[in-house]
Amino acid sequence: MNASLGTIFDIQRYSIHDGPGIRTTVFLKGCPLKCLWCSNPESQINRPEIMHDTSRCTHCGRCLEACPYNAIERCDDKIKLVRNLCQGCGECVSACPNEARQLVGRQEDVEAVLKEVEKDGLFYKNSGGGVTLSGGEPMSQPDFVHSLLKKCKENRIHTVLDTCGYTQLENWDRVLEYVDMILFDLKQMNTAKHKEYTGVPNELILSSAKKLSSLGIPMVIRIPFIPGYTDSHKNMEDSACFAKEIGISRIELLPFHSLCINKYNKLDKEWKLNGISPPSEEFLEKARDRFNAQGLNCTF
Ligand code: SF4
Ligand code: SF4
Repeated sequence: MNASLGTIFDIQRYSIHDGPGIRTTVFLKGCPLKCLWCSNPESQINRPEIMHDTSRCTHCGRCLEACPYNAIERCDDKIKLVRNLCQGCGECVSACPNEARQLVGRQEDVEAVLKEVEKDGLFYKNSGGGVTLSGGEPMSQPDFVHSLLKKCKENRIHTVLDTCGYTQLENWDRVLEYVDMILFDLKQMNTAKHKEYTGVPNELILSSAKKLSSLGIPMVIRIPFIPGYTDSHKNMEDSACFAKEIGISRIELLPFHSLCINKYNKLDKEWKLNGISPPSEEFLEKARDRFNAQGLNCTF
């Protein structure tokens, strides 16, 4: 595998929620988890894929004619993508007269990403910012992450790694010398529920958290606050205990939202959390206060 090539789906400049200061967030594609509440469903598969906006589609069929892999069919007068045949070549995107199709994800080399990141060097300097690698799960591309972080540090750029922690423990040894801060997602302390909601158990994640916290790299535990899934008193209590056990005091609650539903539709994926509302400010404040009463520093 070429370590200087990675699959990314976005680079966001002027980000202020992914670590200190003003940052550029690089979103890597591919994730071993499939969280029910995932707000970036386009990040889950590790290759480029098509988003199809049916509200713009006039069923003209030009994409169907343009596809070299016969991955598009007409079905009951509708245009349907056979996703397992799609090679992500983008021919259909160019052929569509209505901008109803979008190719998400591309391969980039380290130098190209670095060039983009370096554009805001002055902002980083003045705000204490830098680059954040997010996703998806960045550690699903450990070779690329290693190369990119190394380059950033050679160029004196502050680095943050936003991770769900689900990676073989030896992968950490290759990247951590180039990481200045970790944002660690901790979703559900009960491993059976974790598996039910994300597709994987949590043991490896907890082992990663223990390993990372023992190294003295600044770390924030981020808990997605999902009504009915992660927001129980028990899960908050267990998360607080675990944070204290591994010596991490900074907790950030990430409130649920459903702004991503449209992306699920465009990817032909099912949004399974219909009917769930974002948590109230009051409920979040109570949860925050419970963490803080235990000597932790919780925000949302
Ligand atoms: S991206 Fe390429 S393979 Fe996939 S549907 Fe479009 S034209 Fe066909
Ligand atoms: S080319 Fe665009 S508008 Fe025409 S059928 Fe395909 S997606 Fe729809």
